Amino acid sequence: MAKKPEKLWKTSADDALRWVRGTDLTAMDQSATPGWSGKKADGEELLAARGPELAELQERLFAHGRTGGDRSVLLVLQGLDTAGKGGIVRHVVGMVDPQGVQHRGFGVPTEEEQRHDYLWRVRNALPRPGYLGVFDRSHHEQVLVVRVNHLEPPETWRKHFDELNEFEAEVAASGTLIVKVALMVSADEQKARLAERLERPDKHWKYNPGDIDVRTRLPEYLAAYQEMLDRTSTEVAPWYVVPADRKWYARLAVTELLTGALRSLDLGWPPADFDVETEKARLAAS
Ligand code: AMP
Ligand code: MG
Repeated sequence: MAKKPEKLWKTSADDALRWVRGTDLTAMDQSATPGWSGKKADGEELLAARGPELAELQERLFAHGRTGGDRSVLLVLQGLDTAGKGGIVRHVVGMVDPQGVQHRGFGVPTEEEQRHDYLWRVRNALPRPGYLGVFDRSHHEQVLVVRVNHLEPPETWRKHFDELNEFEAEVAASGTLIVKVALMVSADEQKARLAERLERPDKHWKYNPGDIDVRTRLPEYLAAYQEMLDRTSTEVAPWYVVPADRKWYARLAVTELLTGALRSLDLGWPPADFDVETEKARLAAS
């Protein structure tokens, strides 16, 4: 008999992908499938099989929030253009009830956002109790694009590492479980994905001429990612670094991380705050 697909994880996604401070990011193979011994078809099978469980766990979280609970989950997605952040939202987060999801993408700060400190827009987007929050880019851009493009002087952006950690400690203490995922795409795969965006009229809307400028600065971005991972991976807000050249693997890996996070909340169904037998009798008599 064929192995059950979850058995194809030799090492859990959590163990295989959790960032270990000081790991050399430049040595990473973005086409690898850490922890997973199966093939693409097995990965796709497991991803689909996880859907109902992920959806049930998210519904428990939602029910918990509706009945006075204070827990929530925040999935932070970072990655360069074409790394597949949007695909994770569609294919992984898309498996749960959209009613319970608070999705927010962070782009160049608007005029209004610029009038506030950089965490203002982030605080406003934090998931309410019971919700699964999803950030497509995040407050970490403050030590990525801001650093690489010299939008702030070093003495300013250098302070952000500690500020980000303090902020996340506060968010975690308020009941939010934080899962941070960095999707790492190789330069070659990124080139192929950008070429596809240029080839296909249905993908032109995703293309931004500025994406090429980012490519000319890949070593600087890699150095910025390295320091971000080393300095903002904490006990309460760990980074998971996911090789993203194989979309099926990245989606499976994030599904496993998210499922694991929701499971760890250990939420049951909230008990009824009415007498079930009385209500059954009333219904029957109605
Ligand atoms: P996209 O994710 O393709 O919609 O692009 C969003 C753009 O916003 C990216 O080019 C990011 O680098 C940029 N961006 C996100 N956050 C910031 C920030 N805090 N300051 C400047 N640019 C940002
Ligand atoms: Mg883009």
